[in-house]
Amino acid sequence: MRSIFSLAILCIFSIQASLAQHQCGTEAYTRNHFKPAKEQPAIVLRGQDRDTVPNEIITIPVIVHLLFNTNEQNISDEQIKSQIDVLNKDFRRLNTDAVNTPDAFKPVAADTRIMFCLAKVTPDGKPTKGIIRKYTTKAFFLGDDGMKFSAAGGDDAWDSKKYLNIWVCTLFGRSLGYATIPGGDASLDGVVINYDVFGNTGFVRPPFNKGRTATHEVAHWLGLKHIWGDENCGSDDVDDTPRQKSYNYGCPVFPHVTSCSENASGDMFMNFMDFTDDACMNSFTYGQKMKMRSLFALGGTRNSFLYSFACDSSLASGGPLPDDTLPVIKPKASVNIYPNPAISDITITPVNDYILTGKTCSIYNVQGKLLLRQSFVSNREKINVTALPSGIYILKIGEGDEKQVVKLIKL
Ligand code: ZN
Ligand code: CA
Repeated sequence: MRSIFSLAILCIFSIQASLAQHQCGTEAYTRNHFKPAKEQPAIVLRGQDRDTVPNEIITIPVIVHLLFNTNEQNISDEQIKSQIDVLNKDFRRLNTDAVNTPDAFKPVAADTRIMFCLAKVTPDGKPTKGIIRKYTTKAFFLGDDGMKFSAAGGDDAWDSKKYLNIWVCTLFGRSLGYATIPGGDASLDGVVINYDVFGNTGFVRPPFNKGRTATHEVAHWLGLKHIWGDENCGSDDVDDTPRQKSYNYGCPVFPHVTSCSENASGDMFMNFMDFTDDACMNSFTYGQKMKMRSLFALGGTRNSFLYSFACDSSLASGGPLPDDTLPVIKPKASVNIYPNPAISDITITPVNDYILTGKTCSIYNVQGKLLLRQSFVSNREKINVTALPSGIYILKIGEGDEKQVVKLIKL
């Protein structure tokens, strides 16, 4: 009896969903399930706490919880990595289809300077590939967070102050995915994406086969609303996205003007926060960028990501995992410096096969005056910069072809 009843409910959901062309479950989830976290304790500043520096690159470690019930759902590492690649291209406006943004909207299209990596260090400091594969007995999950709990056939979240949790699973009905908005319960915080719209290679279903479901949902996780504000001619609290009557789907022809359009350019249907097909969306705006980045400011909901170093495999105990799927092209050797901005010590580590041992590091001020020089005796070095006044400095490491130049901000 109970199962017939739930089946009936599922059918009603399904019919409603297909009539409304609903592809994103975030608005319904927020209405039905989202509860703000209990009041956060007052901020106690520790040594490393800091505000964002304008336009610094913010890199977010991602842990993918892949829940599969059939072989088909157990998508490849390649497919998962393709999604991280899409996120980096879309958020940095390096997507090749950025040229398709209509001229009328190009002036406000933005590189958010937010990036993503598959986590390289676990919460316990162990090396990881940033992917957890787990068999589940569940044929599908509903949009009620079951996938976020091992006890419910899902997988528990990693510390959502340091990692973006992405659950990849089979969602019932037409929902492609949903996200939690900032400020909710830490154990639920993250993004859920249907396995067959994750990434842009392998098992992906047209017209959602270019990885834009995750771009859209991660932007919700970073505080963006749908461009029409989920109401008739509503507001998304972003000034440079024009007012829009409702969502668009498929692939509209520019301009799409409605009764609440502000001018002849009409809807910004190619914005990642509309419901158009993956091949027809290509941009965030400057206003959306500033809204997302505001979460990382001191006191902001996602500020803790400024000191999440889970993208740095050298910090894992026992060193990084061997990467069995390295690209054929040899990655560029360089150096990594953190923290940057710095207060006291900076740590310099090699990236790819760069060798620090035996090289010299010189620190200059912006007038070109040499202030500090240190020779490296190991492949991981600390430099104490406490004595430097606050400001911008240039670090030079090595000579000739191997020379690396890095800007350092001293707080
Ligand atoms: Zn959405
Ligand atoms: Ca707007």
